[in-house]
Amino acid sequence: MYDIVIIGAGIVGAMTARELSKYLLSVCILDKESDVAMGATKANSAIIHAGYDPKEGTLKARLNVLGSEMMPQIAEELGVRYINNGSLVIGFNDEDAEKIKTLYRRGIANGVKKLALLDKDELLNLESNISKNAVCALYAPTSGITCPYELAIAAIGNAMDNGVDLKLNFKVEEIKKNEDGYEVISSFESVKAKYIINAAGLFADDIAKMAGDTSFSIHPRKGEYLLLDKECGSLVSHTIFGTPTEKGKGILITPTVDGNLLLGPTSVDITDKTDTSTTFDGIETILSQVNKYVNSIPFNRVITSFSGLRAVGGTGDFIIKFSNDNFISVAGIESPGLSAAPAIARYVAGMLKETGIRLEKKKKFNPYRKSMHFFKNLSDEEKNRLIRENRKYARIVCRCEMVSEGEIIDAIRSNPKATNLDAVKRRTRSGMGRCQGGFCSPYILDILSEELKIPVEHITKSGGASNIIIGRTKGGEQW
Ligand SMILES: Cc1cc2nc3c(=O)[nH]c(=O)nc-3n(C[C@H](O)[C@H](O)[C@H](O)COP(=O)(O)OP(=O)(O)OC[C@H]3O[C@@H](n4cnc5c(N)ncnc54)[C@H](O)[C@@H]3O)c2cc1C
Repeated sequence: MYDIVIIGAGIVGAMTARELSKYLLSVCILDKESDVAMGATKANSAIIHAGYDPKEGTLKARLNVLGSEMMPQIAEELGVRYINNGSLVIGFNDEDAEKIKTLYRRGIANGVKKLALLDKDELLNLESNISKNAVCALYAPTSGITCPYELAIAAIGNAMDNGVDLKLNFKVEEIKKNEDGYEVISSFESVKAKYIINAAGLFADDIAKMAGDTSFSIHPRKGEYLLLDKECGSLVSHTIFGTPTEKGKGILITPTVDGNLLLGPTSVDITDKTDTSTTFDGIETILSQVNKYVNSIPFNRVITSFSGLRAVGGTGDFIIKFSNDNFISVAGIESPGLSAAPAIARYVAGMLKETGIRLEKKKKFNPYRKSMHFFKNLSDEEKNRLIRENRKYARIVCRCEMVSEGEIIDAIRSNPKATNLDAVKRRTRSGMGRCQGGFCSPYILDILSEELKIPVEHITKSGGASNIIIGRTKGGEQW
């Protein structure tokens, strides 16, 4: 029996697992997918919001500001990319100017540091490609960008290095309460725990119901994006927002930590919690908005589109509560859930403590994890030294993103281990460049096959039945 089972390996489950791995507790994290970070954590704007947007006095506001302050250190410990690029909310008329002043006042009340109101000249001095029609802006220098799934993978990897267990392909279908605690049941396995943390994102309401809590429901709100080639990433250096609407922070333009330019998200309420399709309407909405903010966006440089689903709880705040004895639900974690996640984890640990659980610190907790992109950042001298030790770092497998065989093997061997093509992609960026995996995928399949010691026909794109190869034409030759 575990002390604690966490259901859901998104950023909330990941940060909570890492926080709890600091203590002498047995912890297991479960997810229904074949890899971690496959829900909202995989597809969002990747902004570490400063904290001026959530309403004063809400848990959202408090945990956003704290999480955003914690993020630089956490990213450094976990070897995850984080860039403190600052954000701008730009306004075009008097109505926008009023909204911006409200955000400024709210930010000050929430405790956001260094916020400033800019006039047109100050704005254009800071960001020269902004439309000349903009008249004012809110400047939040503490805002940043990261890679959300890299952060979740690293947090879970670090938690596992510190003793946490991870079970993937474990879809929780039933939860039984008994005298000692809970039994969490999938169709083929069950685990027991004294405490449960429900971090199941869009499905947190279903999990809470299994423990008898019907007090909230979660509905999906889709956000679609366009991603532009790396040569466009320097069009703006800050994250640029229009003024917020009732449905959220609106469409933004931002550089990514990889140097691409990201446009989106839309905001459309839907009913299907699994519908991550992109649509013609979505693309049109993005194009019509971003053109107003920034000059000369090269739309012919779009390399992909994708969408993410917000888990809307309908209360206007995060829902973090006991659903039953020793059963905590962390639900309705809409934006800024990524920014707030480290603070949510700490808050949840505080709730556990209140139940009387003993939180005794481990003497040997190691907060550090090797960066998944360490090779690229080495000097030529260091690269050559490493290559002399291991020739696999000299063999470039993904030429668009310059990823070596050594790094792909690292991704397959490190916690949480990559077991399919997309999992390798999320850890190394192989297949994320211009050719979108056209050239490197066959090589990566063979490396996966060799490392996992399974036939290449059994390797999948993203788990389940997503096999890529159905047979060989040349009698099993290796490349
Ligand atoms: C379009 C969009 C833009 C956003 N932009 C930002 C932003 O810029 N900055 C920011 O701070 N936040 C942003 N957010 C919010 C942020 O992405 C979320 O708050 C965060 O990812 C939520 O993490 P989570 O762990 O709660 O949920 P998820 O990442 O969805 O994780 C839940 C996990 O639970 C698992 N699960 C579900 N049901 C079961 C089951 N029955 N058994 C086992 N496992 C199960 C799922 O597989 C999933 O892995 C955005 C969100 C969206 C959708």
